Amino acid sequence: MDEFELIRRYFVRDGGAEGVVVGIGDDGAVLLPGPGKALVSVVDTLVESVHWPPELAAADVGFRAVAVNVSDVAAMGGRPRWMTLALTLTAADEQWLAGFARGLFEAADRYATALVGGDVTHGGQTVISVQVTGEVDPAHVLRRSGAKPGHRIYVTGTPGDAAAGLQLIRDPSIRAGGDEREFLVARFARPDVRVAFAAEVAPLAGAAIDVSDGLFADAGKLLHASGAGGFLEVTTLPRSAALASVFGEKEGVRLALAGGDDYELCFTADPAHEASILELGKQHDVPVACIGEVRGGSGLLLTRHGRKVEFADPGYRHF
Ligand code: ADP
Ligand code: MG
Repeated sequence: MDEFELIRRYFVRDGGAEGVVVGIGDDGAVLLPGPGKALVSVVDTLVESVHWPPELAAADVGFRAVAVNVSDVAAMGGRPRWMTLALTLTAADEQWLAGFARGLFEAADRYATALVGGDVTHGGQTVISVQVTGEVDPAHVLRRSGAKPGHRIYVTGTPGDAAAGLQLIRDPSIRAGGDEREFLVARFARPDVRVAFAAEVAPLAGAAIDVSDGLFADAGKLLHASGAGGFLEVTTLPRSAALASVFGEKEGVRLALAGGDDYELCFTADPAHEASILELGKQHDVPVACIGEVRGGSGLLLTRHGRKVEFADPGYRHF
């Protein structure tokens, strides 16, 4: 199987997607955005053993490769439309490719994102780059830099679950009930990106970032970009029952703050919008929790019942 056969077999699907003037098969994709929309362009690379453990199912690798990019588009207040895929493979392993493509297209369908091109190369390690182009209303772009003193800090979902799931995948000897294991592993393998919620909350929010490197580190980046400080109140951190039961209170809190891989949305908003924001969460079945506040100055603090507690986590760093 050469790369042309590989592309045809696994990555070309019948039926054109909306806005695709030229798709797979030419030198480039030609795309037509909706009237008045700005484009948001993101790319994320996943390296085997760095971004996923080798024991992760190929379908989950494919799903995550799309979801982590969709998460960046959502964090800008955008909706994903099209993607390209650059694959470096150590071998044309048909079973792996079939699983990978299945997971990739599951995410493509869930997040309404059409695959419009890509590249396939042979190399010494499996590396996956997905580039997503989305659309955003130029009047409601969600930047990291829009947080203002007095805004509240919110997060969707239950951070920490994905990092817990990754630990369970890596170390099967950790004791966990069947349902809890399945829930936490799925939170790593199949991130539930809050696309519709993010796009609709954008007009109400000041700033946003997606949680990929750990909630504390990412909230700190948002505040830094906004030239502000703030605090997170540890007693308000939303945590899943599964996280608490498998990892306990202390480690559960640590994972929620520093775990990463959540792909939840962390955002700030004026308290005047809180009722509308919580209502929007209900409409979209997205849990939303207020976890802190933006203040003047600089730096993010962690508090417990209003008193400062020591916590230092730089977030995930490659170098
Ligand atoms: P070129 O040599 O012009 O870069 P290629 O021969 O690499 O083109 O690719 C042929 C076509 O297949 C292009 O339209 C490209 O976008 C598409 N393609 C290549 N790899 C993939 C992939 N993994 N998934 C989807 N489309 C792909
Ligand atoms: Mg070409």
